[in-house]
Amino acid sequence: MKVFREALIIFGFLTACLVFAEASKERYDNFKVLKIKTKNARQRQVIEELAENMKGFNLWHSDDKEVHIMVNPQKLIYLQNVTRSYQLPFQVMVSNVQSLIDAEQRAQSTDDLSFGWTRYYLLADIEAFLDDILAKYPEVTSHIDIGTSYEGRKIHGIKISYKQGNPGIFIESNIHAREWITSATATWFINQLLTSTDTDVRDLAENYDWYIVPVLNVDGFVYTHTTDRMWRKTRQPVEGSRCIGADPNRNSDSHWMESNGASSNPCSETFAGIQPFSEPEIKAVTDYVASIKERINIYLAFHSYSQVLLSPYGHTTEHADNHDDLMAVAKAYSDAVKALPYGTEYTYGTSATSMYFTTGSTRDWVYNEQGIRISYTIEFRDTGRYGFILPPIQILPHCEDTLAGILALVKKAKELKYLEVKYAL
Ligand SMILES: [Zn+2]
Repeated sequence: MKVFREALIIFGFLTACLVFAEASKERYDNFKVLKIKTKNARQRQVIEELAENMKGFNLWHSDDKEVHIMVNPQKLIYLQNVTRSYQLPFQVMVSNVQSLIDAEQRAQSTDDLSFGWTRYYLLADIEAFLDDILAKYPEVTSHIDIGTSYEGRKIHGIKISYKQGNPGIFIESNIHAREWITSATATWFINQLLTSTDTDVRDLAENYDWYIVPVLNVDGFVYTHTTDRMWRKTRQPVEGSRCIGADPNRNSDSHWMESNGASSNPCSETFAGIQPFSEPEIKAVTDYVASIKERINIYLAFHSYSQVLLSPYGHTTEHADNHDDLMAVAKAYSDAVKALPYGTEYTYGTSATSMYFTTGSTRDWVYNEQGIRISYTIEFRDTGRYGFILPPIQILPHCEDTLAGILALVKKAKELKYLEVKYAL
């Protein structure tokens, strides 16, 4: 009886902890995401400025045709008035953000204890997965210590190398905290490189050195699990501001803060930080990449969402000198993905022309400052039905898309002679 009573007390305590954890989470009941059509830069700016300057709005996506903006139910009428006065047609893309988050959470509570790709994982689970892989494949894998985050977490990476003298490919993932599909894809891809028996994948695994960082923005990622699913930035406070964090993908020292490619407002989702490399995570990863730049031929930054490959530049609409090759390589990715039974369509173009001006992205920093000639941001699924909250059931199909895309991308880059070894053997 005593045991039963103790069990009850423990059960009660655990339930209380769970309720408390849930209660401390940011909720998005009846928050909607509107897809607003814009005809010119001025109209687009009007919507973007709402997200930047007013509470209750959060920018999900923006390109030259439409803006996706999440709105607090209390601000919905205000937003509708804005769209009416500028005559901007809109549709409701997500009618209740919280219901998407709840559905995602239900998928988390499976009793399957093995690491798989039918749900999203906590940072600790992803780290345990990496440890497992490192222990299982000690001959061909090694741990990369990227550095330490603002909150003191270690940023882990993995190098996969089957032989000496390979050209290298670097994958950065989850620099934006809420883009969970990116780290799910990175871990699946690591597993494929080590376990697949497909000849094309074996070729990919064994003839290139892979440097993969599944979760770069570790603090932000943890925060999306504990507190706010929609968090994007780092977690470093900004002196003199109530707002926390910078956009880590605007923080690198390459045309930093030029051409409205980032914001100087600490409350903005695209706040560039108080100076280049102010975010410890970005300082760490860029220092690491700089130290091995001769070994890297291709840099891929995993993001979501929009289904698009973005090449340099972000700071100007001018074309990079190998623009035609960058487009040919991106087209190969897009064609290969489209050919799969899912028929997922990826577009491609330069960052500044296809999406918006961005400065200080790692993609442009490696291209401009480190001489890595093939560099893309890849915005994963979808195009707005679920946005950042891509249902777990789509993880595996999406991973297959990505593998087909990367196979074709590497093949084309090789054909165009971008995979010659750059370091002394
Ligand atoms: Zn992103």
